[in-house]
Amino acid sequence: MKIHEYQAKSILRRFGVAVPEGHAAKTPDEAVAAAEKLGGKIWVVKSQIHAGGRGKGRIVGEVDEAAIALAAQGKPLAGPGGVRLARSLDEVREAATAMLGNTLVTKQTGIEGKTVGTIYVEGGVDIASELYLAVLLDRGTGKVLLMGSAEGGTEIEEVAEKSPEAIKKVWVDVSTGMGAWQARELAFQLGMKGKTVNKAVGFMQALYKAYMEMDASMLEINPLVITGAGDIIALDAKMTFDDNALYRHKDVLGMRDLAEEDATEVEAAEYGLNFIKLDGNIGCLVNGAGLAMSTMDIIQFKGGSPANFLDVGGGATQEAVAKAFRLITADPNVKGILVNIFGGIMKCDVIALGVIAAVKEVGLEVPLVVRLAGTNVELGKELLANSGLNLIPANTLDEAADAIVAAVAKA
Ligand code: ADP
Ligand code: MG
Repeated sequence: MKIHEYQAKSILRRFGVAVPEGHAAKTPDEAVAAAEKLGGKIWVVKSQIHAGGRGKGRIVGEVDEAAIALAAQGKPLAGPGGVRLARSLDEVREAATAMLGNTLVTKQTGIEGKTVGTIYVEGGVDIASELYLAVLLDRGTGKVLLMGSAEGGTEIEEVAEKSPEAIKKVWVDVSTGMGAWQARELAFQLGMKGKTVNKAVGFMQALYKAYMEMDASMLEINPLVITGAGDIIALDAKMTFDDNALYRHKDVLGMRDLAEEDATEVEAAEYGLNFIKLDGNIGCLVNGAGLAMSTMDIIQFKGGSPANFLDVGGGATQEAVAKAFRLITADPNVKGILVNIFGGIMKCDVIALGVIAAVKEVGLEVPLVVRLAGTNVELGKELLANSGLNLIPANTLDEAADAIVAAVAKA
């Protein structure tokens, strides 16, 4: 699960990580009030969306093809960006008005962009240099990885591509925790000197603690800033959580912003379905993540393109299967459906009944190929055959993939 920058900063603040003071706002009036409360002469107004690249992104009222093309290349755009400096309360209001309720397109949002529902008003920070720092899980070593680069502000993928040697890494054994010496080593590698090193050590230790105690899967500070006074501050914060540990963090669950998530995926999760929308045109209904992956692979191999990943799970009910089917048919991009079920705990007749119920309810306007194998397969096939549904039965996955790709090509 992802959260917004302002939410991540509120968590980090709790752990003693230095972040600028700021307030979230949902209206221009609230934004001005926030700036007044903060005091000072310079503020930064920041769009809160679950995507990065906001500074170089652009607020668009309607779809602006030229802006989208530039944003897709990560180029800075003329016009109002998603992060703006304001030198007066009027400018705060102006920035807030430009952002709220409008769409922000960045390199990471895709062409449709994201609607800005909340902004964050922060005090302007005197930046001497911008660095990058992230904490993440390194599955290869089974350790927590602290990754830094002196080239902050830029996306790490870009640094990794152009100058991989600029990325410095320290691995932490979770059973012993992070030693101050490890943080110091990373600070030196990032070129820090004098009292800044000590500040960086405290900063990194607090960051590591927040990462561990909050069951985060990724914590990215880009940029990490060294101020004119030599202080270290997190100017941006991106935090992602391990979904399987969320039951331990009710406060984090409360930060969930469903408007940022794909509506279909949210609906699917309510029924215990693992659904991920993709951009192809063959809808897949499969049980088991491994089988779902191989189904997508073989569709691709046969020249087709999957519209989704959908694992109905091992013990899905007839209702869940019907729901899954409805989710697939609701996608206008879907030009054909492949149901591929291996009945183990899940019985083929249950799947058949679910499919029949769903088709009776929503109708079927695209070709449907069904391949069933395993427990109660004969019963499942018989139910489908007697249902009067216009479907194409298949005995093997190979046959099924050929059939759906051919049917979609013909349609
Ligand atoms: P994004 O990564 O989505 O573009 P950031 O929060 O990293 O958004 O902001 C983009 C840039 O804006 C930063 O690299 C920094 O230069 C500037 N910036 C952000 N917040 C502040 C702030 N509080 N004070 C001064 N500059 C800021
Ligand atoms: Mg950033």
